[in-house]
Amino acid sequence: MKLEDLVNPAILTQPVYEPGKPIETVARELGLDPATIIKLASNENAFGPSPKAVAAARAALGEAQLYPDGGCFALRQKLSARHALAPEQIVPGNGSNEILELLGHVFLRPGDEAVMGVPAFVVYKLVTLLFGAKPVEVPLVNHRHDLGALAAAITPRTKLVFLPSPNNPTGTANSETEILAFARALPAHVVLVFDEAYVEFLENPPDLRPLLREGRHVVCLRTFSKIFGLAALRVGYGYMGAAMAALLNRSRQPFNVNAIGQAAACAALDDHPFTTRCRSDNHAGLAQLEAGFRALGLELVPSVANFLLVRVGDGARAFAELQKRGVIVRPLQPYGMAEWLRVTVGTTVQNERLLRELAAVMKP
Ligand SMILES: *Cc1c(COP(=O)(O)O)cnc(C)c1O
Repeated sequence: MKLEDLVNPAILTQPVYEPGKPIETVARELGLDPATIIKLASNENAFGPSPKAVAAARAALGEAQLYPDGGCFALRQKLSARHALAPEQIVPGNGSNEILELLGHVFLRPGDEAVMGVPAFVVYKLVTLLFGAKPVEVPLVNHRHDLGALAAAITPRTKLVFLPSPNNPTGTANSETEILAFARALPAHVVLVFDEAYVEFLENPPDLRPLLREGRHVVCLRTFSKIFGLAALRVGYGYMGAAMAALLNRSRQPFNVNAIGQAAACAALDDHPFTTRCRSDNHAGLAQLEAGFRALGLELVPSVANFLLVRVGDGARAFAELQKRGVIVRPLQPYGMAEWLRVTVGTTVQNERLLRELAAVMKP
């Protein structure tokens, strides 16, 4: 019997996630010195992890022979204080990507639908397809989620609707007022998955906790991979109603979040001066990139996150040319925006380097 005849059919057609290339890979492929390469491709924190988080991670390594606390007690305590929610309302994950997968386990079966914007974070579509469900993709309008169109795409088969704000890859956000109105108008058979991966970069973040108090089916997702600078350690979480959390907990691995990550995440939450500095440095970096792109005569999408879309014409070519010059960015043709690049905000020096190399690449 052929292997293909044995497998779950969803696997045979499952698209593969294309990550931003690691520095080491680019160095190897192009024969460059890794020390000269900068990566502005995956929306990581250019300012690194908090030194306090690094110290906590080092200390935790000394106990690496022990299984982690599968219940993430200390981390859930801290998060419950941060959000003024009960610890039972918080589900830590191996990155918030794992929470997305748990939602698939809990809610999606073949024949179900999940509604999402396009372009948005591709993992929504990947998870939907993995469970044999149907992604229903709703085009953004002016690079922003069109909540009216999302609502109109809901059918009796819809189980999940994904809403990221700020959105990746566009860096645009929806207002709290419109999000709350959208959520309150959803039919009761639909779960809203509100992805807040970049919320800490906002001056005035939306607050969806009233929806939880009203007993609505809402899951909010956060990550330590972005402003907290801990992408390597894979820690994220969802907050939601306690009944929803109990369902997600049934579907997860018993030790889904490693001990090093738990310790680092706890320390990162306490390092307020670090996150405050990252937020203001990111703000300055966005302004630097916007001014630089405008000076090059390039169209951009104003962003409230830690990355920015810029229109370069032939995105694949600009991506390849920049990479040869040691600058890794994200080409957007997999998102259906072949003329655009997504650039993560770097340090001042990294942003200058990107602008210099891009100017050279764009010269006729
Ligand atoms: C980066 C990102 C995440 C976070 O993924 P992790 O698994 O926590 O690293 C989630 N959603 C969006 C929209 C993102 O851009």
